[in-house]
Amino acid sequence: MRATKLTVLVLAAAAVIGLACPGWASDDGQVVSIAAKDFVAAGLGRKGFDLLMEKNGRVFFVASPGEIAALAALRVSTVIETARFLQQAGQGLSAGGGINGAFHSTLELETDLRTLERDHPGLASLHEIGETLEKRKIYALKISDNASLDEHEPAVLFAGCHHAREWISVEVPYLFGKYLLENYDLSQEVRALVDASEIWIVPIANPDGLEYSIHVYRYWRKNRRANADGTYGVDINRNYGYAWGSDNVGSSGQPGSDVYRGTGPFSEPETAAIRNLFLVHDFRAMISFHSFAQDILFPWGYTTDAAPTDAELGAIAGTMAGLIAGVHGSVYSYGEGSRLLYLTNGDTVDWTYSIAGAPSYTIELPPVDIDHGGFFNDEAAIGAIFEENLPAMLYLTRYAVDHPLSLRPRILPLRERAEPALVRKPKLAARPASAPHR
Ligand SMILES: [Zn+2]
Repeated sequence: MRATKLTVLVLAAAAVIGLACPGWASDDGQVVSIAAKDFVAAGLGRKGFDLLMEKNGRVFFVASPGEIAALAALRVSTVIETARFLQQAGQGLSAGGGINGAFHSTLELETDLRTLERDHPGLASLHEIGETLEKRKIYALKISDNASLDEHEPAVLFAGCHHAREWISVEVPYLFGKYLLENYDLSQEVRALVDASEIWIVPIANPDGLEYSIHVYRYWRKNRRANADGTYGVDINRNYGYAWGSDNVGSSGQPGSDVYRGTGPFSEPETAAIRNLFLVHDFRAMISFHSFAQDILFPWGYTTDAAPTDAELGAIAGTMAGLIAGVHGSVYSYGEGSRLLYLTNGDTVDWTYSIAGAPSYTIELPPVDIDHGGFFNDEAAIGAIFEENLPAMLYLTRYAVDHPLSLRPRILPLRERAEPALVRKPKLAARPASAPHR
């Protein structure tokens, strides 16, 4: 759906200045910062805030009006950063293709996935792997030779948009699928990979949240679950079944929190859909795309203890970081999620790794920090961000084809219950300067 150019500009401008508009809903949040020492002194690390990053001695996160009032009552000095953030972000805002510009809405993605399937019969098949609370389909595009058959080939999963506001995370996996299909007849490397594997692409894991982010509130992160206390949303990247809810640092039991883990592991249709797909194929690797920070994170998220194959996970991540840097020079840091970032429990990659040790990565796409746009990416940069990630995605797919997990013992049981609190809490000050949310 295309609006007139004038309409688009007005809508785009409204999106940028939304937080300053009188009509902005009272439950919408602000980006705030607090001095890191005050953050630690007030014990805020245990309050379930969705931390965006730490920079220049200040911790940034999104807080609701109620949370800002509570911080004031604690006499914690906060700075509202929203205007500065949006001023930076607005410089690269789209003026084409609707308020979401060149970024996909759920309907636009469905249309484009159907086009890929239609134009590449035999190589692409589109699957509905679940339905959301608002009755939207969750789509997975399978790319393989004889795509309509289950040939039991090694499988790799590329997923995007667990978090609604991270629009760029839709585009990278989608463009990877498009690239594979359009280059199958042109590239020996692509043809060999596609023939030897099943590549599954789920560009939008959280369709309800994405629509809400596009049309109502740009910073929305969770799905749209109506919680029992009147709040909305479960953080579906805290709802997976391994070490779910193992403490209140890596996720929150408070429904209003941006990192609310839900009422139980896999309580949400989005995570159940990914689980059901993952368990019926020979998945040997996966990437879950997020933004922002330029990080490659691997298990564990729930503990700072090393995963059983920590060295292999790190070696693959290092290779991917090198491949990414080789394209446009972008530096992506890499390491265990719990060490490079902060503790998370119930996240996607801890669970996929827990099944059989499949190398599993969260890639936090550009920009590197809020001062470079945060959750806002210039639509003109979509192509470059995809290009720099392409060799890493090809490499991981090749790695998966060459490294069957069945040759290894199943190192970890599938657990869908909360674990006892095994977690060491790293000090906030130990975090890197650019620690974001994911
Ligand atoms: Zn995220």
